[in-house]
Amino acid sequence: MSLALTGIGISRGIAIGRAHLIVRGSIEVQESAIPDRLIEEEVARYLDAVATARRQLRSIRDRIPKETRVDITAFIDTYLLMLDDATIVNTPVDLIRDTGCNAEWALKQQRDAVVEVFEQMNDAYLRTRRDDVDHVINRIQRILLSTGQGDLHVEGGLHGAIVLADDLTPAETVLLQHQGISAFATEYGGPLSHTAILARSVQLPAVVGVHGIQHYLQDGDTLILDGQHGVLIADPDENTLEHYRERQVQEARRRSELASLVQTPAVTLDQRPIRLMANIELPEDIEAVSRENTQGVGLYRTEFLFMNRREPPDEEEQYRCYLGVIEALNGKPLTIRTLDMGADKQVDGAGKGGLCGGNPALGLRAIRLCLKDLGLFRPQLRAILRASAQGPVRMMIPMLSNTHELRQVLNLIEEAKYSLQRQGLAYDPHIRIGGMIEVPAAALSAAAFARRLDFLSIGTNDLIQYTLAIDRVDDEVNYLYDPLHPAVLRLIKMVIDAGQIAGIPVAMCGEMAGDPRYTRLLLGMGLTEFSMHPSALQEVKRVINQSSISTLAPRVDDLLQSGEADQIVAGVEAINSSLY
Ligand code: PEP
Ligand code: MG
Repeated sequence: MSLALTGIGISRGIAIGRAHLIVRGSIEVQESAIPDRLIEEEVARYLDAVATARRQLRSIRDRIPKETRVDITAFIDTYLLMLDDATIVNTPVDLIRDTGCNAEWALKQQRDAVVEVFEQMNDAYLRTRRDDVDHVINRIQRILLSTGQGDLHVEGGLHGAIVLADDLTPAETVLLQHQGISAFATEYGGPLSHTAILARSVQLPAVVGVHGIQHYLQDGDTLILDGQHGVLIADPDENTLEHYRERQVQEARRRSELASLVQTPAVTLDQRPIRLMANIELPEDIEAVSRENTQGVGLYRTEFLFMNRREPPDEEEQYRCYLGVIEALNGKPLTIRTLDMGADKQVDGAGKGGLCGGNPALGLRAIRLCLKDLGLFRPQLRAILRASAQGPVRMMIPMLSNTHELRQVLNLIEEAKYSLQRQGLAYDPHIRIGGMIEVPAAALSAAAFARRLDFLSIGTNDLIQYTLAIDRVDDEVNYLYDPLHPAVLRLIKMVIDAGQIAGIPVAMCGEMAGDPRYTRLLLGMGLTEFSMHPSALQEVKRVINQSSISTLAPRVDDLLQSGEADQIVAGVEAINSSLY
């Protein structure tokens, strides 16, 4: 009998395939006493598990296509190095011999000791490496406990599989995508998590917040996943399969129709040119920037360069990486955002909760982390400045909440310029510095930021999260996510107006900018620069090219004046369905 589960569709597309269930959950470990005569057997069992973990990781690494960028494969090398480290190999063995405990318990003791050391570290970046330790130790624990499921890799590959998991980190998503999965569904997560953003940017159909995955579905089930409507159907009958195959054909047709718009410029019916920029994070996104004929990059999320590795990249590595992007963009402008790590942008294996204390979204993330850890921030500032000598580069600061932070950043940039100058290293002395407006406090004081900056970009993912007090990765409160909330629209309007008064450009780079349902509303509010994942670009352009700002502006003004949620929803629908 077929069974349908629903969740939140976060990345459009239909996939039909076999389920690959990743069961992880927390690992319960019990202490037991090993008789003296069996101690050496227990030691051998432990060392065997370590050797199996090594074999599994090597096999995963060997399956990753050669062209995959180094930092994705580098984290596997990091895990392999840890599996050779005395803290993981020798100390648990000593514990088994000295205390006569079982291997799982010895490993747990060692894990707790290592994690404590990591948590006391002052270095915020190094603290994030705790997750790597957990990943490696959990892998060994699962082998010891013979709970094989939980691996991101199976013999024979995952080609065409629909992966089911409690949650996936962005790094895991990339790894799975490289193994050829056709879609994924998770129990947790929200539409604005970085895993969701990544799924959309690589066009991997996905559904999150599907409760009961592990309860109702099994490895090997035939599944249909509808990433647009958030539906997962197990064991479908022939009629249902036929219906979804037809939907796959329609989806392919839609994509090819949109592809025919690639060379058409984005200009409204009343001849107002609109700038359409791309959000990128992975090197493979750059190809999409030219494929979709975007005008440049409005948001380059650099944190992906810092993930899945033991040490942060040094200035030179960052510089080289930015240089590669500049070259690939061939003269198109590049907006490099400084590191926005923390909250849901943890390094591999952080899972739910993260490591920034009880409330990571409100904690030490983005510019706060960078200002606290100048050893992390300064090399990036220098690398971006050096890159600015090689092409049209702008620098963008995430999550500013007050002008004091901004002043500190601007001083650090001046310092970095001065040190480069003294070393005879080139940079663009007029590099434009912009700020992301994504905290309500910053939106409310947008005028003060606009006076001090060269451009603003509205990060609606965080702005909505903070305005409506909903954690963007918590599926329990996802239903409250509402870009049309009158308070959100009022803040967006304040930022656009502040930019116009100060005479500086204002863009939007949150997911709202790539959603065609909001395009006309935003045009009517005065937005002229949209930055989005490249796969959304043609659809947004199609709406732009069928819209007239002079017609939209007064209608949107009236709507915003009303300030009533229901009227706004109805009004936006009416605007979207009218002729222009
Ligand atoms: C945003 O918050 O809207 C944004 C673009 O930044 P990120 O999603 O990377 O936090
Ligand atoms: Mg943000």
